[in-house]
Amino acid sequence: MTNPILSAWTSAFEIAPFDTISDTDFAPALDAAMQAHNAEIGAIASNPEAPTFANTVEALEAAGEMMDKVLSVFFTVAGADSNPLREELQREFSPKLAAHFSGISSNKALFQRVADLWARKDELGLTDEQARVLMLSHRGFVRAGAALEGNEDTRMQEIKARLASLGTSFTQNLLADERDWFMELSEDDLQGLPGFVVNSARAAGEEKGAKGPVVTLSRSLIVPFLQFSPRRDLRQKAYRAWTARGANGGETDNREIAAQILQLRQERAKLLGYESFADFKLETEMARTPDRVRDLLMQVWEPAKTRANADAEILTQMMRNDGVNGPLEAWDWRYYAEKRRKAEHDLDEAALKPYLQLDRMIEASFACANRLFGLEFKQLDIPLYHPDCRAWEVTRNGQHIAVFIGDYFARGSKRSGAWCSAMRGQAKFPKVQAPVVINVCNFAKGDPALLSYDDARTLFHEFGHALHQMLSNVTYESISGTSVARDFVELPSQLYEHWLEVPEVLAEFATHAETGAPMPQEMLKKVLKAANFDQGFQTVEYVASALVDLAFHEGAAPDEPMARQAEVLADLGMPAAIGMRHATPHFAHVFAGDGYSAGYYSYMWSEVMDADAFAAFEEAGGAFDSERAKALEENILSTGGSREAEELYLAFRGRLPGVEALLKGRGLIAA
Ligand SMILES: [Zn+2]
Repeated sequence: MTNPILSAWTSAFEIAPFDTISDTDFAPALDAAMQAHNAEIGAIASNPEAPTFANTVEALEAAGEMMDKVLSVFFTVAGADSNPLREELQREFSPKLAAHFSGISSNKALFQRVADLWARKDELGLTDEQARVLMLSHRGFVRAGAALEGNEDTRMQEIKARLASLGTSFTQNLLADERDWFMELSEDDLQGLPGFVVNSARAAGEEKGAKGPVVTLSRSLIVPFLQFSPRRDLRQKAYRAWTARGANGGETDNREIAAQILQLRQERAKLLGYESFADFKLETEMARTPDRVRDLLMQVWEPAKTRANADAEILTQMMRNDGVNGPLEAWDWRYYAEKRRKAEHDLDEAALKPYLQLDRMIEASFACANRLFGLEFKQLDIPLYHPDCRAWEVTRNGQHIAVFIGDYFARGSKRSGAWCSAMRGQAKFPKVQAPVVINVCNFAKGDPALLSYDDARTLFHEFGHALHQMLSNVTYESISGTSVARDFVELPSQLYEHWLEVPEVLAEFATHAETGAPMPQEMLKKVLKAANFDQGFQTVEYVASALVDLAFHEGAAPDEPMARQAEVLADLGMPAAIGMRHATPHFAHVFAGDGYSAGYYSYMWSEVMDADAFAAFEEAGGAFDSERAKALEENILSTGGSREAEELYLAFRGRLPGVEALLKGRGLIAA
């Protein structure tokens, strides 16, 4: 029997033959792919001919075709439709794959060839895109430590291994603390909680084997509990436990681990010749330097703090009216903010829901892409990995652009959250290949399926990432689509969310599931207004975390991160009743791995750009201004990582983004 993953994919658009793949095909396919990739890499590294762009950099681009196919199928089903066998395979192959790719990035012979080309880059007659790919390849090797020799090389390997294991311990400790704690609720304690919170508290109780409902430390349960429970004593107890995660003493305490991680990162950056870990980390980002990050965060911090302090006074007064004395505390904020939200923007979720049908919101996301970029969508009937998946062929003027797959419904076999990935990235080398892009969400099923407003926003967000993949128009796959700086990658997705807020879009596509009537004007206004409620609080808790992350990675690593954290917050004048969104002992973005270390600011950086970029449309004459749409596609959506992010933005906007649009969008300054 031939392995269907490894054989040629002959179906329309060369989509993986999901209907013939069985789980037992994965392990042999993964092994074969790693072997084939190693052989390809070995041949490039040991090529007796002198290095050329073609026999080295292009050869690396062309290598790994089998690997790409196998990984795209495996990771798609492992994330969106797992089962015990697939989970087992993931545990088995994750370390093997990590070792495989780290072996390539520290391959000295390969690095020598790339370094040789880099030294002669101006004599090679490269196109701009080729020069960019060479620069990225060289930089990737250097940053991975491939240029280090002797003791320094050995030490770098030790540091990387130690950091990986500390990151795993950090995550496991956090999970243990989250798993172990729960608070039992009597039937009386449920008073004031809405039905959906009571239901999740009961479900959580069953899961924990408790006698009745419980509150756990899962964000999706504890946040609504803090919002709705009138019992101040219970809110305090829950909040204290939530913010003590990773700092409970004993074996699961993360504070010493955080200190060690920061020391090792600093040492790693020094070995590579950087002043600090933040300098190392930000080199590849649009922000580039710690100073530029701090500048931006501080421009947002001051208006956010002013708003939060004003809000705190209103909430304190509400608390007084309830007969509670003393200061407003962190466990009071969400409760009184929720009461205020109800009073000021009484948005009836139940009445809103029938207007947000999944199918109509998909239509809306397609219709906007049609008006902006001329894309057309035709449903396809092809076998995929789950019956809930749908596929469309995307064309423009009759030309094939991409295949788009949507897998929208929640199910037990799918991990939580929402994401976009390219099952095949766009490229023109070594052959022309059109993208296959998937959006995976976790919406509740129904007949018809109805969304919350947040769900609809998620749908637009992920579709924005999909456009970045589908409209990509570069030569080399390594820089196509979303292969851009981390602080730039959320621009297309967050920007696309703005089209959901365009009143004419909601007016056309938010129609009632039973009557077909458009959403009433009053409701539409309320929906749009409620979106920036309590932004003082949300901005403060986020920016405080981002500034602490930045401070940790600048200059010498702190011996006592908790003391440094307290110092940073005191300098900022952190409002007393607001905690950091993620404090150090449970700041997984920063300590569970390297992804968002010295990088938690990126969400806000992207948001500054998306607000500013959408303002460019409004200034030009409206959300569907065709000149602006063309500039967006030409300079951002089609260009992948072929140029520096800052250059791309400048080309689109004519200037760098300012924070005004974000502050207005969040309601932190007057519109
Ligand atoms: Zn995103």
